[in-house]
Amino acid sequence: MIECTKCETPQFLQITQSRVYFEDGEMINEISETYECTLCGGTGMYTYTEDEEETAVSGDVQLTKERPKHA
Ligand SMILES: [Zn+2]
Repeated sequence: MIECTKCETPQFLQITQSRVYFEDGEMINEISETYECTLCGGTGMYTYTEDEEETAVSGDVQLTKERPKHA
């Protein structure tokens, strides 16, 4: 889950730009999403690379792991 680092909530985040890069016309190779927080005006970017199964965030967003409240 992606959330705003300033507001610490994903509630006000909007995707302003989304790009998907394909390899060989079929496989998704890379996903790039730009976010804007409508509450504080912060912006950030999230990218996911299939090859390395790697995610990266920059700017005013952070990646949080969704954890169940009960173990
Ligand atoms: Zn915010």
